[in-house]
Amino acid sequence: MAGSHETRPSNATSPPDYDAIIIGAGMSGLYQLYRLRELGLRVRVFESGTDVGGTWYWNRYPGARFDSESYSYGYSFSKELLEQWDWSEHFAGQPETLRYLNYVAHKFALRRDIQFASRVTAAIYDEDHRKWDVALEDGNSFSARFLITAIGPLSAPTLPRIEGVASFQGRSFHTARWPHDPVDFAGKRVAVVGTGATGVQTIQTIARDVRHLTVFQRTPNWCAPLHNRKIDGETQKTIKAGYPEMFQRCQETFACFLHTPDERATFEVSDEEREAFFEKLYGEPGFGIWQGNFRDILTDRKANALISDFVARKIRQRVRDPKVADKLVPKNHGFGTRRVPLETGYYEVYNQDNVELVDITETPIERITEKGIKTSTGEIEFDIIIYATGFDAVTGSFDRIDFRGVGGLRLKERWRSGPETFLGVLVDGFPNMMMLMGPHTALGNIPRSIEYNVDWVTVLLLLCQQQRLRRVEVTATGVTAWTDHVKALGVGLLSNEVNSWMTGYNTNVEGKQTRIVARYSGSAPAYRATCDEVAAKRYRELALA
Ligand SMILES: Cc1cc2nc3c(=O)[nH]c(=O)nc-3n(C[C@H](O)[C@H](O)[C@H](O)COP(=O)(O)OP(=O)(O)OC[C@H]3O[C@@H](n4cnc5c(N)ncnc54)[C@H](O)[C@@H]3O)c2cc1C
Repeated sequence: MAGSHETRPSNATSPPDYDAIIIGAGMSGLYQLYRLRELGLRVRVFESGTDVGGTWYWNRYPGARFDSESYSYGYSFSKELLEQWDWSEHFAGQPETLRYLNYVAHKFALRRDIQFASRVTAAIYDEDHRKWDVALEDGNSFSARFLITAIGPLSAPTLPRIEGVASFQGRSFHTARWPHDPVDFAGKRVAVVGTGATGVQTIQTIARDVRHLTVFQRTPNWCAPLHNRKIDGETQKTIKAGYPEMFQRCQETFACFLHTPDERATFEVSDEEREAFFEKLYGEPGFGIWQGNFRDILTDRKANALISDFVARKIRQRVRDPKVADKLVPKNHGFGTRRVPLETGYYEVYNQDNVELVDITETPIERITEKGIKTSTGEIEFDIIIYATGFDAVTGSFDRIDFRGVGGLRLKERWRSGPETFLGVLVDGFPNMMMLMGPHTALGNIPRSIEYNVDWVTVLLLLCQQQRLRRVEVTATGVTAWTDHVKALGVGLLSNEVNSWMTGYNTNVEGKQTRIVARYSGSAPAYRATCDEVAAKRYRELALA
C-alpha cells in the first residue's frame, strides 16, 4: 500500500497518503517506525541518505566511535535484540554501530517503509484537510495526518566560512560526509581543520598513517582518556545478564549515562582526597570525569577551576614541547562546559615529528588555495584537507526544511529568537507535528532519551487513533511555560556562558552568533516526570480535536 504512492503526486482533496510521515532513519526514526507499525498506522519514512543509520551512516571518518558505553547506547526495547547482539568493545567504532543499526533494520523488516535518497525540502500544513504536505527534493510530494521529525540534533554539517574552500584541487571532506570507500593516507600531506570531538578522533587515528599532518586549531577542548577495551566472553555474559539493572540505572542518572554526579561538592573533601578522586576518574573509562565528577564542577567557578587545572596538568605532562602543550590547554572555557572529547593517545600525537599544530588565533587561515591552505605566514600544500568543523546543531536540520504551519507561518521565523517548544516535542502553530530530539529535549546518552520521546509520541498518537482525533496542537501558553522553564534551568550553568553547539553558537552559520538555550539542561528523570505528568493529566496543554 505504502509503496504504491511513490510517484503519485499528493492530491489536496483526497485523504492523506499516510497516517504518519517520519523524516529521518537514524536511531529515532527507526524506533518511531517500529512503534507506529505496532499501532497499525500507515507510515512512510523519508531519509536523505541511501541507507539507515543517521549519525552512524554519515560519520564514517577514521576513528569515529562512541563515547557512550556501547551496551548503554543500544536500543532497550527488544529483549531478543539485546540477547542476539554482541558489542565487541566497550566503546564501539562507527562501522560496528552501523552494522548494529542495519541488523535492527533487517530484524524488524523496517526498510520496506523507508524511502532512501529522499531529502525532504518542505513540509506545509494544510489546515483545511488537517494534514501535512511533504515535498521531496526530487519533486514528488506526499501527505500525512501526522508529521514526525527525526532529523537529528547533529546532522546538518557546516563547512568553515573560509574563502576558497571550493578551489582546492586535492581531496577534501567534511567528516560527516565521509566517502564510503576507504581513504588512503599513506604518504599524504593532510590538514585537519577543527579540534572538537570529531577532529580529536580523526587526528589520533590518522596521525600514524600520514606523511605529514597539520592540525588547524581555533579552540582547544578539554579532552579526557576514553580507556576503551575489547569485551571478552565472560564480560559479554555479565553485560547481558545485567541489562535490566543497567537500563534501570540509565533511567535514574542525570543524563542517562552510566555515570552520574558524585553527591559531594568539590570543597567538601580535602585537597588529597580531591586529587585522588580526579586521578581515579582520569584513569577510568568513559564520561565519568565529566558526568560522574563532584556535583558542582559545572556550576561553581572555583570548583570548575580545580578540575580544569587538574586536566591542564595532565596535558602538560603528556605533551613534550611546553609551547605546544600550552596551545592545547583551553583558556576560554572551563573543563566540561563544552562537550568533552574522549581520546586515545590524542595528546601524544603532538610528540610525533610528522605532526604540527597551527593555532589559528595566532596564525589565521587567510584562504584555501588550489594547492592547500594559506595562513598569515604562508601557503602550506596538502594532498587532503579534512574539515572537522561540526554541525549546525539542534536547530540546523530544522532550518534546512521549509516548515510552514498554520497560516503559512515559517518555523524558522517562529524560532527567530531561539527555539520555543513544549517538552521539545510540539510547537504552537504547527499542529500534528512532533519532534524527536528537537530543541529543549533531554539529550545526554541520547538513545535513552530517544526511546522515551518515541514512546511518549506513540502514546499520544494512540490516543488520536482511539478518539479519532485529527488535530493536535499545543497551546501558546504551554509553549511559553515550557520555554521559560527550560531557560530557567539553564541559569547558573557554566556551559550556558560558553559558545558551543550546546548553546547554538556557530561562527560558520550566518545569524548564529548569539547564544540560545538549545537543550533542556535539567535531569533526564525530571524531564520524563514532567512529560509523564502531561500525559497523566490528559494533555491539558494541548488542544485536541
Ligand atoms: C560522531 C558522533 C558521535 C556521537 N556519539 C554519540 C555517543 O557516543 N553517545 C550519544 O548518546 N550520542 C552520540 N552522538 C549523537 C547522535 O547523533 C545520537 O546518539 C543519535 O544517533 C541521534 O539519532 P537521531 O536518529 O535522532 O538523529 P541522526 O542519527 O542524526 O539521524 C537523522 C537522520 O535524518 C536524516 N535527515 C535529516 N534531514 C533530512 C531531510 N531534510 N530529509 C530527509 N532526511 C533527513 C539524516 O540524513 C539522518 O539520517 C554522536 C554524534 C556524532 C555526530
